[in-house]
Amino acid sequence: MCDGEGKTTNGDATSAVIVAIERLLERPRPDLGSSEQTKELIRLRHAADLLELAFAREAAVFAASNEYDELGFVSPIQWIRQECRMTGHAAAAAITVGEQEPALPKSTQALRAGKLGFSHFALLAGTAASIKESPGGDEFDEAPLLRKALAHSLSRFRRECTHARHAADARRFLEEQTQMEEWRRLELLPCEDGALVLRGFLDPVGGAMLRSALEPLARRNGASDERTKEQRWADALVELARHGGSAQLQVTATLETLRGFDGAPAGELEFCSPIAAATVQRLACDASVTRVILDADSAVLDIGRARRVPSAATRRALRARDRGCVWPGCERPASWTAPHHLRHWADGGDTTLENLALLCHRHHWKVHEGGWQLVRSRDQGVVTVPPMPEFGSRARAPNEPAVV
Ligand SMILES: [Zn+2]
Ligand SMILES: [Zn+2]
Repeated sequence: MCDGEGKTTNGDATSAVIVAIERLLERPRPDLGSSEQTKELIRLRHAADLLELAFAREAAVFAASNEYDELGFVSPIQWIRQECRMTGHAAAAAITVGEQEPALPKSTQALRAGKLGFSHFALLAGTAASIKESPGGDEFDEAPLLRKALAHSLSRFRRECTHARHAADARRFLEEQTQMEEWRRLELLPCEDGALVLRGFLDPVGGAMLRSALEPLARRNGASDERTKEQRWADALVELARHGGSAQLQVTATLETLRGFDGAPAGELEFCSPIAAATVQRLACDASVTRVILDADSAVLDIGRARRVPSAATRRALRARDRGCVWPGCERPASWTAPHHLRHWADGGDTTLENLALLCHRHHWKVHEGGWQLVRSRDQGVVTVPPMPEFGSRARAPNEPAVV
């Protein structure tokens, strides 16, 4: 690294590497065959891994000095993060790799030979550092972990490393888990327009519980389900909240709003800004929602859920007939649905088996807010009709060409 001439050797070598890479970036891309291309990708990755190792060595030397202090930083990580434009986590990982490398000769050899990627190496080095701090950790042997690193994907190797840390020091492992549990939090940040931003942190077990509850609900629901993954997670969370049964929503609206008349005000819902008439209608279908219907003078016309809610017998018959959401292709079972009035009760629709159909949260939304129609036909069961496209009211001038 240093030939006695001072620090210039390292700098010269790095400068030469940069020049070589610049040349590589500027050359016209050669027309490689597919086998040459894959070899080239592997070569480039190996070069990047070697550079990471060289960086880690230098980072550890820097961290061992007090240079960062003289430069006015509170830690070497802070300096590296800012001046080398990295995350704090990546800076800390680089220092750990550089510190552990001398004790990991076989792993270093595997990295230099291109058999081990830098990400695996960094994970192994971090685990080594952690195990060495445990009782008896000074006899750390890299060989068992290296065998696993060479055999497994990064995510599987991460699990192996976690097991190794637990085996080395279960008490410390528990302390780390307990610490994460302390960090748990969920922020519900209401926006001015009534929407809600969620932000939070769950410990691994809490996170796993939430995921295992949401996962089955967030799967694609039928071939025509075009929601993004994030939209499916969001829908699953709302569905879970509704299914919990303890969500006591109260919607307040005028009869005009409920019937969707022009000029009617919006509806009201607790913890929410005013809601659209179509949403009022959807919530009013739902037996778990308390409805307060007002007349034009704000006098209460109708409260509660007793009326227009299917009787226990109708409900049983509805479940037996529909079995689940009636939307074609939807697989939500009956317990995850709400009875929808094909003709809304506010418009004179009956709460009878013929006028009811079970719909899951998403498809109930599609019918009310989304403008889809459900038609029950004798031979085809339930048929869905997409919303009619809205035609502009603006008339075309006689000299204006028609837009096709
Ligand atoms: Zn409905
Ligand atoms: Zn459905």
